[in-house]
Amino acid sequence: MTAAFSQLTGNLDTIKQRALYRSRRVIASPQGINLQIDGRTVVNFCSNDYLGLANHPDVVSAFKAAADHYGVGSGSAHLICGHSAAHHVLEEELADFTGRDRALLFSTGYMANIGVISALLGRGDAVFEDRLNHASLLDGGLFSGARFKRYAHADVENLNVHLNKATGNKLIVTDGVFSMDGDFAPLKALSLAAKDNDAWLMVDDAHGLGVIGERGGGLLEHYGLNLEDVPVLMGTLGKGFGTFGAFVAGSDALIETLIQQARTYIYTTALPAAVAEATRISLKIVIAENWRRDKLKKLAERFRLGAGQLGLELMVSASPIQPIIIGDSQRAVDTSNALLNAGFLVSAIRPPTVPKGSSRLRVTFSALHEEHQIDQLLDALNLIKT
Ligand SMILES: *Cc1c(COP(=O)(O)O)cnc(C)c1O
Repeated sequence: MTAAFSQLTGNLDTIKQRALYRSRRVIASPQGINLQIDGRTVVNFCSNDYLGLANHPDVVSAFKAAADHYGVGSGSAHLICGHSAAHHVLEEELADFTGRDRALLFSTGYMANIGVISALLGRGDAVFEDRLNHASLLDGGLFSGARFKRYAHADVENLNVHLNKATGNKLIVTDGVFSMDGDFAPLKALSLAAKDNDAWLMVDDAHGLGVIGERGGGLLEHYGLNLEDVPVLMGTLGKGFGTFGAFVAGSDALIETLIQQARTYIYTTALPAAVAEATRISLKIVIAENWRRDKLKKLAERFRLGAGQLGLELMVSASPIQPIIIGDSQRAVDTSNALLNAGFLVSAIRPPTVPKGSSRLRVTFSALHEEHQIDQLLDALNLIKT
């Protein structure tokens, strides 16, 4: 071993001893219900491609046609020469879809969250975050330099205690559908708390958009909330929409501010125009094909019923994210490996992604799953448990 970085190996050993070591599985097939891993086909129960659009033929052919027209690379950031007609139209369609003045594309959701929070807040301001928010929201809050307060999960009373003491601009930040738990943020109460305290509310609905609501409008559609209630809405395109990238939707003033000041917007290459064109088609499917959302509900209900009968510990979730709480990290990994041997890919989620002692199997469903596959997963879980 060379001397450089040799001090890191001790740290890696510690991670291993705590059963927190992470490794990649190499996938040889397209995304979908069946994945090829190490020459085997396994049934996929851990993707965020909830609607089954990542490999949808119409989305794929839109991508190919756009690559023929635009090529692959976007050439530069949006503000130099990378902002194509494809990006521009998609932004207008996303604004329409979310019922907002404007939308702005970001290259990833992680960057959107860092960029928005840092553009809106600085020293002297305050940011309030749900304890279980996605890492990118927490990082965005820390990065902004504002006073950083975490409130107890979905606990608006606790949030109010912190809000009362704050000065400067105030931003409340929450996941919509919580990414590792599957439950819904109490958005009505949060928007009231924001209004009462002269604060802004930002919702990251990465797991709700496309999936929840009659038209796939996510948690805001579910609760009937508008731009006044939730001034900042962030969504990702790599989950329910099945493509890649992210967007922020809101007022003209918000979007112009982001164009001027969000550093993760300004200083990064625009996502490929072909991705934008593919997303335009997936957006059409998201809106039109309600059967995908109905199917997800049915699958989740069937799973919850069966898992309950097996005595598995589920969470309060009405989304396609249905975690099984294991607790111990090593046990979570062992169960995930046993499931893989039985032909099911379900990932073990461990700290620091989730709080200590709450390691879990994060089971997710796709509109392309069949009900008998849910039953097969339940059978496998039953065998492993006993
Ligand atoms: C996945 C995710 C992100 C990050 O989005 P990317 O486009 O993958 O960078 C942000 N917020 C939440 C809640 C997410 O689940």
